[in-house]
Amino acid sequence: MLPTFTLHYARLPARFHERFDPVPVASPALVAFNRPLAEELGFDLDAYDEALATEVFSGNRVPDGAEPLAMAYAGHQFGNFVPRLGDGRAVLLGEVTDRRGRLRDIQLKGGGRTPFSRGGDGRAPLGPVLREYLVSEAMHAMGIPTTRALAAVTTGERVIRRIPEPGAILTRVAASHIRVGTFQYFAGRGDIEGLRELADHVIARHYPELADSEHLNRLEGERYLALIEAIQARQATLIARWMGVGFIHGVMNTDNMSIAGETIDFGPCAFMEAYHPRTVFSSIDEGGRYAYGNQPGIGQWNLARLAETLLPLIDEDQERAVAKATEVLETYPARFETEKLAVMRAKLGLAREEEDDGELIESLLEAMQAGRADFTLTFRQLSDVAASAESEPALFDLFERTEAIQAWLGRWRERLAREAAAPDEIVRRMCAANPKYIPRNHRVQEALTAADDGDFGPFETLREVLSRPFDEQPGREEYALPAAPSEQVFRTFCGT
Ligand code: AMP
Ligand code: MG
Repeated sequence: MLPTFTLHYARLPARFHERFDPVPVASPALVAFNRPLAEELGFDLDAYDEALATEVFSGNRVPDGAEPLAMAYAGHQFGNFVPRLGDGRAVLLGEVTDRRGRLRDIQLKGGGRTPFSRGGDGRAPLGPVLREYLVSEAMHAMGIPTTRALAAVTTGERVIRRIPEPGAILTRVAASHIRVGTFQYFAGRGDIEGLRELADHVIARHYPELADSEHLNRLEGERYLALIEAIQARQATLIARWMGVGFIHGVMNTDNMSIAGETIDFGPCAFMEAYHPRTVFSSIDEGGRYAYGNQPGIGQWNLARLAETLLPLIDEDQERAVAKATEVLETYPARFETEKLAVMRAKLGLAREEEDDGELIESLLEAMQAGRADFTLTFRQLSDVAASAESEPALFDLFERTEAIQAWLGRWRERLAREAAAPDEIVRRMCAANPKYIPRNHRVQEALTAADDGDFGPFETLREVLSRPFDEQPGREEYALPAAPSEQVFRTFCGT
């Protein structure tokens, strides 16, 4: 049933990781298994064996060919550098080659205390495991690059947080688990050779086009500069996609920024309802460092930390290296704006590019802010308005004050008239760019609370609803609605 494991990361030098077998758990039960993903990863589901799956996804049995390990990394947490973090509760089993020939990491999160655990117990509570399962799979269904959830097991053990909670393990799948913090780990130790090996590993695995370029092979420093630029491009795209669905990551520390450009770490993440750029949910983000509107700038800050680590590889003359890296970093704001414009144009049904589009988008956001309008529903409702003016009252109902949105609608209509596409084509495009169903915080919370009491029904229903975010799902409309005042979630917790 299991695919063949390969050991690319495990074969990197010993100081990249600590060999570590997951700590067995008392009585594992498989509570979620992602069959389409398993299929994609090369699992033989005709030979599906639930007992084996439960053993493997709980860490009670190490699959043949795997050499589990905890990865070493550092990171800036809320701006403070921590030279040694590492996988304190995650264990990488190895990689598999998926049906499209891509290497994918398979990691158990919550697999027990590792050499990097410090004061932690190495375990995960059920709630955060299911939150990551739901949200990462929802992101995937919305077409946003993300780590995936292959399985969730409960361990039959309790983990002590504020109160005792059921323990669980998530099987996470990623293009890789290499982070900005992985580079910082080697830079922090002054380990230039380690840095070079890591960078070359990343190029071979995630950016092979940089290894094939003759020009870059002649100029080694240029290759590492090009690597910064390539990682920056993926981050700009990714963060623009987050902004387009109102996603607030919540803990954009450098150890939670993937080098492959996937969304990773769903600890305190949440989706914005009423639009406001300063929206924050995470209980530990007291200064609002990772607020919705700060995410693009934090992306650049993290990329600057990445660039710093690579300076010794870019030019022997460090002043020149800084100048070259700075030149690349300075292209980020424009690149991000281009990506964001592309995302927002698509949301408004605009295929042509016009000079004033940025301003049109900004004034819609201002109208939403003034009217405290739900971000997701406003855009989805606009697709109905594009189909028929009869839908306008339902749009206005989303706004506490409607003057601004009424005026804006006229401008948008004029702009739409200059599109070449037929109206029903515009509506179709808008429905494919604006999800109706997102993981609303109160729905996620409701599913996790029920699961803690042993009822996985709400989790299953939500998972199914979120697997088709752009489709109309008759009978499921309530899942599209924002929280009622009594249901509102104001705070999310890391749950570590
Ligand atoms: P995170 O906030 O999930 O990005 O984790 C930050 C660091 O804390 C990483 O090094 C984690 O491995 C570590 N960590 C988080 N939770 C635990 C835990 N329960 N036990 C041990 N280490 C943990
Ligand atoms: Mg993390």
